[in-house]
Amino acid sequence: MRTTVGIIGGGPAGLLLARLLHRAGVDSVVLENRDRSYVEQRQRAGVLEQGTVDALRACGASERMDREGMEHHGIELRFDRQGHRIDFPQLTGGRSVMVYAQTEMVKDLIALQLADGGPLLFEAEALSVENVEEGSGDGGRPRIRFSHEGREKTLECDVVVGCDGFHGIARTAVPAAVRRDFERTYPYSWLGILADVPPSCEELIYAHSPRGFALHSMRSETVSRLYLQVPNGTDPADWSDERIWEELDARLAVDGDWKLERGQIFAKSVTPMRSWVTEPMRHGRVFLAGDAAHIVPPTGAKGLNLAVSDVIVLARALTHWQQTGSRELLDSYSDTCLRRVWRAEHFSYFMTTALHTDPEQSPFDSRLQLSQLHRIADSRAASTELAENYTGIPGLPIG
Ligand SMILES: Cc1cc2nc3c(=O)[nH]c(=O)nc-3n(C[C@H](O)[C@H](O)[C@H](O)COP(=O)(O)OP(=O)(O)OC[C@H]3O[C@@H](n4cnc5c(N)ncnc54)[C@H](O)[C@@H]3O)c2cc1C
Repeated sequence: MRTTVGIIGGGPAGLLLARLLHRAGVDSVVLENRDRSYVEQRQRAGVLEQGTVDALRACGASERMDREGMEHHGIELRFDRQGHRIDFPQLTGGRSVMVYAQTEMVKDLIALQLADGGPLLFEAEALSVENVEEGSGDGGRPRIRFSHEGREKTLECDVVVGCDGFHGIARTAVPAAVRRDFERTYPYSWLGILADVPPSCEELIYAHSPRGFALHSMRSETVSRLYLQVPNGTDPADWSDERIWEELDARLAVDGDWKLERGQIFAKSVTPMRSWVTEPMRHGRVFLAGDAAHIVPPTGAKGLNLAVSDVIVLARALTHWQQTGSRELLDSYSDTCLRRVWRAEHFSYFMTTALHTDPEQSPFDSRLQLSQLHRIADSRAASTELAENYTGIPGLPIG
């Protein structure tokens, strides 16, 4: 098999990159190691920045999102039993976010890719990437070795893009001698649930409480997505439905007559918090995008959006290279993306440490945390900083 761009991973980054390249007339093949139903059901993110929404519209994948997605004009910060609304359009000159589940975005992209006959192989596991150095044997053409339908096969490419997430293999094509990894872990995880109940709020509620962080979010008009901060190593089986609702009630408690509606819980999972970046995001003819290159804790809703902004930059660079022969944009890909990545890393770290309760936290630290939250609520400058970062990192190119 031969293609121009070999894409490893059929998550949001790989699928969107394939769509953007298809529109520009650049051929690609996507290899995804899971089956279609697994990829379409994997519960993850749900908040899309304006740039992500624009990219989905530009590649024709927005019809259902525009019908079913929920445009949100703000979030609520809740602490000391008081709610404080952050009004996005007012603070950012009109920006907002779209709540539309990652599962739905992935379904839309897969349907489009298959309808166009775009090569997308499920249960095709990339095993290794070879010959990535520019100018090496075979004219510097890299190969992906992969297993599919019980056989080992080879995909020859002009470039390889690793969109294979944190546990993928593409990263190993970057030699250890040139790679630098940066990591921070956190002493807590998120217990996430999906419940068959209309959301008890119109916008997301980020709640700081002495008992730990809680987030009220939603997936649709009838499905609520809620999270609780829990210790690392927590087994979801130790949390009965009753215990989860009681703890959510306690952490989301607010003065006034607001009430958390309960419903049937149909999914429970625990996600550890991690900040991690690998540099550079390119070596020779291998490029890394999305979670293959960086992870953020989900508190800032940045993971999916960063994956999308990487592939917008990369699609533009690959198209420019195909049309003009110039590698200028490919050469600046890693630096362009990393500037945005580190901004998102900082914002995600800030949101996480401002809202969670560290088990080792001193009373002094707790007072500082509350002071910071009051500052955001009281100061237009501080709330603008949050709103600009949440709705889309300002001042950086996304494509
Ligand atoms: C449990 C969880 C909850 C999350 N919640 C949020 C949230 O609330 N908000 C938010 O913004 N972000 C969240 N994120 C992050 C967000 O979902 C990711 O940033 C986003 O999925 C990144 O997309 P991606 O395409 O880069 O990687 P992925 O979605 O990880 O996709 C990578 C794909 O590569 C495939 N793959 C891996 N190895 C191979 C191989 N060897 N060969 C072929 N294919 C391979 C995988 O099967 C997968 O389909 C969450 C992440 C996790 C894990």
